[in-house]
Amino acid sequence: MSIIVTGASGQLGRLVIDQLLATVPASEVTAVVRDPGKASGLAARGVTLAVADYNSPESFDGLLQAGDRVLLISGSEMHRDRAAQHQAVLGAAAKAGVALFAYTSIIGSQTGPVTDDHRATEDAIRASGVPYSLLRNNLYHEMVTMNIPAALQHGALVRAAGDGRVASAARADYAAAAAAVLSGDGHEDTVYELSGDTAWSFAEFAAELSKQSGRQVPYRAVTGEEYAAILSAAGLPDPIPHVLAGFDASITAGELAVTTGDLSRLVGRPTTPVADAIAAALAG
Ligand code: NAP
Repeated sequence: MSIIVTGASGQLGRLVIDQLLATVPASEVTAVVRDPGKASGLAARGVTLAVADYNSPESFDGLLQAGDRVLLISGSEMHRDRAAQHQAVLGAAAKAGVALFAYTSIIGSQTGPVTDDHRATEDAIRASGVPYSLLRNNLYHEMVTMNIPAALQHGALVRAAGDGRVASAARADYAAAAAAVLSGDGHEDTVYELSGDTAWSFAEFAAELSKQSGRQVPYRAVTGEEYAAILSAAGLPDPIPHVLAGFDASITAGELAVTTGDLSRLVGRPTTPVADAIAAALAG
């Protein structure tokens, strides 16, 4: 078996490699990074390293082989045409004749710049004729627990999610699902709607944070515009404040409350409760 993981220097990619190495010999795993300087830890674990950049389609020439199982981790450069970036990897995969092309997409049917990139990539994958698995991830728990230091500092958890609920899951859970698809059988031409087993509200999150931290940290709901302005003032560059406010709008609309059970079925256990992610963030 030959498994290729792009974006392997990122947070999700590293966790996918961790999960793969629990069941697959390192000699069968290739980590694709654009900056080898970020990959010394991966090389030390015995995986093969390859260097390629989504912005340079030619950098993928000859990198993929017939029969490979490939995971394309969606790009993180929001100012780029990510659909074109992903096409660079897909084109190489189709040319090589890979056995499986898995892609980290996004759950739900909402629209917006981030989602539109994912849908365009999904359409291109389906049209390519390559056997595929669409891993439609919901929100990471960590996209909320990263707010904990600011919430403790300001005495309130500020978001623009109204009373909406979100079935987030730990990044490590999504990584385990990706590893299961890459190393298992029968995942050709599948679409998995991956989310946590339980949808929770921000009021519930704030109550759990208050309980665990011993501090009163109520949820304060603001409008999307107010939230984007707060994030901009905190130094986040465009378009990230608007992207994050857009996710909260999706939560408000109930679009991320979907609980299909696909994630726990793929990993063979319940998903990690958000309370555990809060505990890990407070400990870390
Ligand atoms: P991350 O830590 O930012 O990792 C992104 C990975 O993509 C990194 O390895 C990065 O390489 C690589 N990458 C970016 N642009 C590239 C390019 N032009 N060529 C080659 N590689 C490139 O993000 P993550 O937490 O692992 O999440 C993985 C992806 O999921 C993100 O990229 C994003 O599309 C999406 N995401 C989902 C959620 C969610 O809540 N579901 C949240 C955030 C992001 P470098 O290490 O060199 O930068």
